[in-house]
Amino acid sequence: MTAPPVSIASVLIVDDSFVQRDHAVSICKALGIARIHEASNGREALALLTAISPRPGLVIVDLEMPTMDGPEFLVKLQELGFDIPVIVASSRERALIDTVREMGGVLGLHVLAAVQKPLQADVLRQAIQNAKGRELARASQRVDLGVDATSLSDALERSEVYVHYQPKADIRTGIVRGVEALARWKHPTMGQVPPDQFIPVAERSQLIHRLTIDVMNQAMLQNAAWRARGLHLPVAINLSPMLLERSDLALEISSLQQCHGLTPDQIVIEITESSLVTRVGTALSVLAQLRLRGFGLSIDDYGTGFSSMQQLARIPFTELKIDRSFVRGAPERESLQVILRSAIEMANRLGLVTVAEGVETLDEWRMLQEYGCTLGQGWLIAKPMSGEDLIGWMKQYRVQAAQLRA
Ligand code: C2E
Ligand code: CA
Ligand code: CA
Repeated sequence: MTAPPVSIASVLIVDDSFVQRDHAVSICKALGIARIHEASNGREALALLTAISPRPGLVIVDLEMPTMDGPEFLVKLQELGFDIPVIVASSRERALIDTVREMGGVLGLHVLAAVQKPLQADVLRQAIQNAKGRELARASQRVDLGVDATSLSDALERSEVYVHYQPKADIRTGIVRGVEALARWKHPTMGQVPPDQFIPVAERSQLIHRLTIDVMNQAMLQNAAWRARGLHLPVAINLSPMLLERSDLALEISSLQQCHGLTPDQIVIEITESSLVTRVGTALSVLAQLRLRGFGLSIDDYGTGFSSMQQLARIPFTELKIDRSFVRGAPERESLQVILRSAIEMANRLGLVTVAEGVETLDEWRMLQEYGCTLGQGWLIAKPMSGEDLIGWMKQYRVQAAQLRA
């Protein structure tokens, strides 16, 4: 049985080796790609891209080439604003190929795959299909619902913002050690609005304070309700770094915690590292106060900011959350493994709890186990769910936990 043709009509193959190019051409033909263009180095490829119309839907590029090599070609693609998906194919070592893929990502290019030669038909097909799927998923996520401050303010008024909880489990034993509180908004006509859309609106409009206090209140109530049912589940709450500019924030959170009859060790405050920037003095003082009062302090999305190390040394954090972009696909990518391993080692030396975000597969879980990560969070364990659902989920989770044990 022959597989259906892929959804790309034309391709440009850039390689200085005639033999390798010929091989790539025959694979593309076999996949049903109708128009195939060839260039023997980056400069020729750029000239072709400027000349041909319509532009190819894919560029397959070698790394080592005379005149203009692969990396330089990718930089030029970005500079000239060519928005064409790219596949990197080279016979060089894995780590080097991964680095170029990383570089393409940083440049904002759409690198579908970075593969070792010889190029294989099924690998190429898979990369093209994944790209299609991801594009569709991204398009559906990107729908701008046109959220504004007024509608968000109304939502808070009408209690449309509620909280879901995602478990964090011990990497060695699989036992659930806590949950992260994640804000959810169901608008009466727009339906579910993703947090990536309403949190930035809240931050721009000063509503973030009200929203955060609302989320904290719900999470603390839930923590108490779980406790009444015999569940001990510390909750992590996301705190926008903007709020650290309020000098009375630690006091406010403390009073809230006392009102709910909780101890501070039941609460972890997660703060994104990338934006601890303005009014550093006040922010540091609030963080120090939170820590003095006994709250856990977690550095969120670790690895995505710029001055990570510097901030770790300055602020009394208790936990490091490694961003999911370093976890997803790590078993197949050596460069991610290096980053993961060194982040975990560094955190261990500093006495910090490490949490890996976005764990989706058992392979990723096992790898984190091997590296000595403390906690894992992600769809492999569970997606975020309501506080009530979590009680039932905990019961059936026991079987799964046994399979996750080291
Ligand atoms: P975050 O703090 O990094 O939260 C984790 C996000 O990863 C959540 O997305 C969660 O649903 C998602 N996630 C968890 N496991 C997996 C997995 O295995 N695979 C994948 N692909 N994703 C996974 P969500 O709920 O959409 O939240 C997005 C962001 O919105 C959060 O990122 C956080 O920065 C922000 N946010 C959510 N609630 C609040 C809040 O109450 N206050 C503030 N300030 N920010 C919030
Ligand atoms: Ca978080
Ligand atoms: Ca995060």
